[in-house]
Amino acid sequence: MIKQFTGILSQKDKSLKELYSLITEHGPVSRTDLVKYTGIKQTTCFRLIDELIQSELVIESGYGQSSGGRKPIMYEVKVDAYYVIGIDISTTHTKVLLMDLAFSIIDEESLTMDETTTPDVVIEFIVSCIHTMLQRQRLTMNDILGAGIGAIGPLDREKGMILNPIFPSPGWKDVHLCQILSEKLNIKTVLEYGSNTATLAEYQQDAFKKYQNVINILKGDGIRNGLIIDGHLVQGADKLGAFGQGHMIVDIHGRKCVCGAYGCIHAYSSIPAIQSEIVKGLKRGYPSVLREWRINIEEITFEEICQAVNEGDHFARQIIEDAAYYSGIGLANLVHMFFPELIILNGPLYTKMDLYYHTVIETAQNRLKAIYPNHEIVFSKGLLGENASAIGAGRMLLHYYLTDRSTIF
Ligand SMILES: [Zn+2]
Repeated sequence: MIKQFTGILSQKDKSLKELYSLITEHGPVSRTDLVKYTGIKQTTCFRLIDELIQSELVIESGYGQSSGGRKPIMYEVKVDAYYVIGIDISTTHTKVLLMDLAFSIIDEESLTMDETTTPDVVIEFIVSCIHTMLQRQRLTMNDILGAGIGAIGPLDREKGMILNPIFPSPGWKDVHLCQILSEKLNIKTVLEYGSNTATLAEYQQDAFKKYQNVINILKGDGIRNGLIIDGHLVQGADKLGAFGQGHMIVDIHGRKCVCGAYGCIHAYSSIPAIQSEIVKGLKRGYPSVLREWRINIEEITFEEICQAVNEGDHFARQIIEDAAYYSGIGLANLVHMFFPELIILNGPLYTKMDLYYHTVIETAQNRLKAIYPNHEIVFSKGLLGENASAIGAGRMLLHYYLTDRSTIF
């Protein structure tokens, strides 16, 4: 029935869709609360709930708290009524998740992005993953609501296109991703910035729902941000690329950045910037365990740098503290603009290196506490790790079914 929730709807279908959407958001929820939320007449509302139960979209899930009389029966969505696919396409990997309607991961596959992963290779990988997963889980295409895709920008979301991202492989220009996948798989697809889908997914976690203003930063090879303002995801302008902090300038006389400007955060506090500073320092002769691990210092990996930092290597720790300092300054600048109650710092730079994570927070807090002594910010590494973008992409797909957005393919 969810598949019938798109297009032109009768009044009754609109009410069913609204009810289902409310149960998705508030479930487990009582009938009385659903009447209150919808404003639909009680008898009509009860009849529609019964219809959702008969269609096997909603189930009774026990009893709620009594407010004096009998305990109310609670309703929630049937999580295996349908399944959704969540896809994350980034510069480092393409991840495909099969999830139920509670967004629990049932199956997953991942592809490392390199110079061979052209659009054709990635599309073929996604298509074959979905077929394999369905077979493994004894499901069919009819069990799938569709696929949400969270990708690196810039995107044209209205047309379902990836425009011209910087990927290791050639061919990624004006790729009609949604159209191609919809045709090959005969399912609905939606496209959104991966940083937005990740932010949405984290924000739906019970621990984070109470906050109204949230900044989510994903930091690795590049720097991507997502924003929740007044409880709503800021989707940002199309075609420009998502709201991103990488090219925020933190030193007007600073290092040259890949974008051509001087002093961007990206030039100081991204994985490539850190690798470049490590190599420069080793060439100057600074002592470090990294020198013993690699004959060719140009080949030192991010994982090796993490290991050196975690083993207490003085030189590596110094480089990381310097890099984190610039990110902390940038983070303080964001707080001046958006006054978040929660800041999520995710991505390998934060999750694999505690020193980086804590130095960024300390630098930002040192700048903020004198100006805003009463503004407390909660910091977190997030709860979903590297799956956040793909999980959020699946959520975005269901969201599009249950709202009147027209950009579903
Ligand atoms: Zn830049």
